[in-house]
Amino acid sequence: MERTMIKDVFEKSKKNVVLRGWVYDSRDLSKVRFVVLKDVSGRIQITGIQGKTDAQVFKLMKNIPKESAIEVVGRVEKSDKAPGGKEILPESIKIIAQAESPLPIDVSDFSKTELPKRLDYRFLDLHRPKIQAIFKIQSNLMQGFREFMIKEGAIECQFPEIIGSSSEGGTDLFEIKYFEKKAYLSQSCQLYKQMLVCSMEKVFAIFPTWRSEKHNTVRHLNEARQFDYEQGFADDKIVMDVLGRCVQYMVGKVIDENSDELKLLDVKLKVPKIKYLTFEKTNKLLEEKGVEIDERDLSGEAEKKLDELYPDTIVFVHDWPMKGKPFYIMPKDEKADAELSNGFDAIYKGMEVSSGGQRIHLPELLIKRLKAKGLNPKDFKSYIDSFRYGAPEHAGWGLGVERLTQVLLGLNNIREAVLFPRDRDRLSP
Ligand code: ATP
Ligand code: MG
Repeated sequence: MERTMIKDVFEKSKKNVVLRGWVYDSRDLSKVRFVVLKDVSGRIQITGIQGKTDAQVFKLMKNIPKESAIEVVGRVEKSDKAPGGKEILPESIKIIAQAESPLPIDVSDFSKTELPKRLDYRFLDLHRPKIQAIFKIQSNLMQGFREFMIKEGAIECQFPEIIGSSSEGGTDLFEIKYFEKKAYLSQSCQLYKQMLVCSMEKVFAIFPTWRSEKHNTVRHLNEARQFDYEQGFADDKIVMDVLGRCVQYMVGKVIDENSDELKLLDVKLKVPKIKYLTFEKTNKLLEEKGVEIDERDLSGEAEKKLDELYPDTIVFVHDWPMKGKPFYIMPKDEKADAELSNGFDAIYKGMEVSSGGQRIHLPELLIKRLKAKGLNPKDFKSYIDSFRYGAPEHAGWGLGVERLTQVLLGLNNIREAVLFPRDRDRLSP
């Protein structure tokens, strides 16, 4: 007989089934024994009755260690007392893989195990439906991103992860040994996506990035993924619109398709509204609310305040000061000495989820901007040269995969939003 998923036992009318899954819990009331079986789709009660259930099976039901993988062959019965209104009367139970006991962490619904310990045993932590729900939603966000981008006519691209020199002039690069040379792990696919839109027009990627920043915060990882987009013949206004619609599509998809997971996580989502504010206007608004202002960036407090002012809204803070943006961001009106830029940040649910903007496609301007940031244009020769052969104006953004998951699901720590976090202290599992 073919295996049935537990969800289908409830949703379809089935009489005899083969179930495979893990033992969530068991209870022995001496004459009646219960085993709660779970698989990735749900949970069901297996009920053994002394004198009625096969004696061997009844005996076995007494002590199967929690989280053991088992196979149950049995009959589906309606039951008022069983959760979900159905139970299984077992004909046979086979232990597929017995779990060692006791478990090193509590994986019940009531688990109070702290995050670091849970992450040490992440493989076991994932036995919890609530934890799985985070990653089922994240998977759907990635799926939604792809669907949206393909509809926009963008091409999915893969970029190198090992680079010979810093593409962004950042200092927080992980150095690696590449045969007899020094190389680095990529901090972003900035240069590569810019090169591509000079021929392919619209490109996207889900791209892992590494930053050797020594911080230890609840919103930073040392290895994180980004939803990346870049478009040719476009400015910041155009790509902010794309980003807004993209996130609306992704969130809408999660609302439509992940209702079980959202319920499990006790999260109520709304498709976000969109708000555009200049950096200057944003600071005025925040100042009125008593928030301390920084002339080149928004503080964590400022980002939280924006969420209070505009709940369930993606706030695009644009016309960002040049001082607060990297060298490749286009200054306003293509003037090297402009105070403001065509760069923006997107703030959603109290946190920066994305940065983007129009890029500099003019080699001479790029050289000026590099010098103004104290960087040596010689170190960026191939980057600059890539814009000498018909490079149109272009713009794009990077949206944090884990950061977006974190804000959408209201997770306190970004480590909850990544299966196997890499942070200042953690390299394993
Ligand atoms: P922040 O100001 O939050 O440190 P950033 O401005 O340094 O972020 P960007 O270089 O703009 O980050 O990266 C684009 C997006 O990638 C960010 O908006 C965020 O969503 C995500 N991101 C950046 N750094 C990290 C990190 N260390 N861990 C997880 N996500 C990150
Ligand atoms: Mg940023």
